[in-house]
Amino acid sequence: MKLQDHVRFVRGIGPKKAELLEKLGIITLEDAIQCYPRGYEDRTQITPIRRLTDGEKQCVHAIVGMLPKTAHIRRGMDVTRCTVYDESGALTLRFFNNKYAAATLEVGKEYAFYGKVQVEGGGFVMLSPDFEPVGADNRTGRILPVYPLTAGLHQRDLYRVTDAALAAVPDDLPDFLPESVRNRQGFAPIRDVLFEIHRPQDMRQAQQARRRMVFEEFFLLSCGMRFLRARRSGKQGAQLRDLSLHALYRALPFSLTGAQMRAIEACTLDIAAGRPLSRLIQGDVGSGKTMVAAALCYLAAKNGRQAAIMAPTELLAQQHIQTLKPLLEKLGVSCGLLVGSMGAKQKRDIVQAMESGDISVVIGTHAILSDTVRFHDLAVAVVDEQHRFGVNQRAMLTAKGENVHLLVMSATPIPRTLALLIYGDLDVSVIDELPPGRQRIRTYAVGEGMRPRIDAFIDRQCAEGGQVYVVCPLVGDGESGRTSAERTAERLTGVLPHRRIALVHGRTKAAEREQIMADFAAGRIDILVSTTVIEVGVNVPNAALMVVEDGDCFGLSQLHQLRGRVGRGKRQSYCVFYGADRGADARERLKTLVHTNDGFVIAQKDLEMRGAGDFFGTRQHGLPPMKLADLAGDMDVLEQARCAADELLTCDPELIHEPVLRARIEKLFAQYGEGSLN
Ligand code: ADP
Ligand code: MG
Repeated sequence: MKLQDHVRFVRGIGPKKAELLEKLGIITLEDAIQCYPRGYEDRTQITPIRRLTDGEKQCVHAIVGMLPKTAHIRRGMDVTRCTVYDESGALTLRFFNNKYAAATLEVGKEYAFYGKVQVEGGGFVMLSPDFEPVGADNRTGRILPVYPLTAGLHQRDLYRVTDAALAAVPDDLPDFLPESVRNRQGFAPIRDVLFEIHRPQDMRQAQQARRRMVFEEFFLLSCGMRFLRARRSGKQGAQLRDLSLHALYRALPFSLTGAQMRAIEACTLDIAAGRPLSRLIQGDVGSGKTMVAAALCYLAAKNGRQAAIMAPTELLAQQHIQTLKPLLEKLGVSCGLLVGSMGAKQKRDIVQAMESGDISVVIGTHAILSDTVRFHDLAVAVVDEQHRFGVNQRAMLTAKGENVHLLVMSATPIPRTLALLIYGDLDVSVIDELPPGRQRIRTYAVGEGMRPRIDAFIDRQCAEGGQVYVVCPLVGDGESGRTSAERTAERLTGVLPHRRIALVHGRTKAAEREQIMADFAAGRIDILVSTTVIEVGVNVPNAALMVVEDGDCFGLSQLHQLRGRVGRGKRQSYCVFYGADRGADARERLKTLVHTNDGFVIAQKDLEMRGAGDFFGTRQHGLPPMKLADLAGDMDVLEQARCAADELLTCDPELIHEPVLRARIEKLFAQYGEGSLN
């Protein structure tokens, strides 16, 4: 067979199995090659029965000592027991609903058994072991790959297709990694690597092969991001001749911090040099990133051009309009809002005004990306809280004008190596200074015993005219024993019946959620119980108390983001994290937040304690999905791959000498985002 052949032609895989395989993304043998094992079972080590370890999967060679006995436990549940022994001792095997085992195991014959071992009543039990006669070495005596499955598929189906795929790999299979990179890293030829990852002889081989493929994934991504960047920096940026900001500075009710000034200067320098601006502004919550956006929008308008700010939610867009519109209009710059929930006529009017150039600055949600929205002359695009948007959405926005300057704002502090991957196409400015006079948020890590006092404190905050956030990890009650938002809202309504309490979570309809958030912002709600939906950039200065239930099950960076919802006004603000009574580990993590307010310190601590997974988890990060690489465990490989990509592209920016690699990168990014490499 050939790599391009469909898997349904593999022996033992009919059209039915082929359909299931398609669910795993496997259509051709080539896809099967790229379906890597998600782990391995080391069945090469034979353990004497006496040395077995409780709770681990192990392999023994043992002789069947008696005929297997099957007992009918209840409807649909037969249990087969069998005692086996080796020189060191005896072991009980237990199978569930396994007629095959009962019929096959022969007394006096030696088999290799592989399965999970438990200690029960002083003896060892092996649960539902896989077995075969000693010496057969099909399922034992080797490293067995474990493939991802879907209902109806078995490991042996995956063995079949990967066997066929490996047999189809030609000797001259092209390698995406350039030879120089391979040599430097000491990688084996790709054909060998594929055999080693699917059929390793030992665990070391499996690990090395895996590392090689992870490297390739990171390498391709890094090259892709560098490519994006090179494409942009080779271009002309929109020309803005007048870069003076004095009028804006005079119109502000405060003076900018040094960090804000530096960020703005970095932007104007790029623009003055004739380059398209591609810059990420990273700054902790409340550091004043919006002012950098304001400065750029102002410059666009001042030069007779247009600017757009795109925020991830309607509420945030509305908040931006509320702060920026009065400021910019004072300077003679017209502003408009464009969000999905606006009426058709309102929308039509604003779209028309954008197209005619009557409006200089538009603030909105992804509604701005709609095909029907056109600009008269877009020169500056700002994307707020970017980790909610993908690389391709950035590209869609800048495609609405010519040589558009791009500013991305993010409040998620992420470690440098990851930032270079995710934002590899952007320059970075960090705002590492908060506006003066910010009061410190008093933070407490508490246990269950404090609940009555905290409830009373919530009540007192409301009595003093303040508002309160209560954040929970779950929407409804599950089995995890965690506190749900629904339950909490109910409980608080019982304890504080005289307070206006509302509930929002991910399952609340978008329109209703926006309404509740707007009510809360307007002070019509005292206590807002929610899940982390309120995490992003909401600004309600009158809210001065944040209570987080089960604080121990959030990442530190996330808790820090949540804390950033308070401390935005004149009131002394407080933050309370429950969960400090859940063990030393939980207490130490929460104490980090009590002791520091610095987002980067917290991010670093978070990384040390939980790995990079926390920065991503299920959250979108705007990159093509990765097959094998694990952003938590493979940071060192990421760093090496990124350096290698940097080196290669510095010598050969257009990859003229690496056509195979170039084609592969273009395919990767094309699949993922329409034309995002161009
Ligand atoms: P973020 O970086 O989280 O987006 P914002 O831009 O929303 O922060 O700013 C937070 C608050 O700080 C806003 O109310 C803003 O008006 C205020 N602010 C911004 N810069 C300054 C400054 N230099 N001095 C005083 N207040 C400032
Ligand atoms: Mg913001």
